[in-house]
Amino acid sequence: MASTDWKSDLRQRGYRLTPQRELVLEAVDALEHATPDGILCEVRKTASGINISTVYRTLELLEELGLVNHAHLGHGAPTYHLADRYNHMHLVCRDCDAVTEADVELAAPLRDTLRERFGFETDMKHFAIFGRCKDCAGKSGTGTGAGGRAEA
Ligand SMILES: [Zn+2]
Ligand SMILES: [Zn+2]
Ligand SMILES: [Zn+2]
Repeated sequence: MASTDWKSDLRQRGYRLTPQRELVLEAVDALEHATPDGILCEVRKTASGINISTVYRTLELLEELGLVNHAHLGHGAPTYHLADRYNHMHLVCRDCDAVTEADVELAAPLRDTLRERFGFETDMKHFAIFGRCKDCAGKSGTGTGAGGRAEA
């Protein structure tokens, strides 16, 4: 995919990142749904001197530059995406923590309704939608409805 275009994009916009910042950005690119801790581990493979507060500061700066975005997938630290990958909702399973990416356009009807009723512009990407994934919902058997679906 075209995910590493951020390098030429940056150059065109006249930004120059320090090697350390570039490493953080590369880690976000490589990890997907990268937490600051995960980024720290990744960056330390190359730059052992870096610490967590540098990672946080760098992420803040990269976000200001519009290169990364964060989303909240749970109670802990936010997770980071490259800005051009930040185009989906997150369905997070309460039981197994699996993260499913769903096209943000699937929420268009809800978004439109909220705009009509409240004049509110909803960002469906920033927070996760919690529930149970297909596998976990299937495992617990009983489900909600009487009868349910026959299992093959
Ligand atoms: Zn995501
Ligand atoms: Zn946030
Ligand atoms: Zn699950």
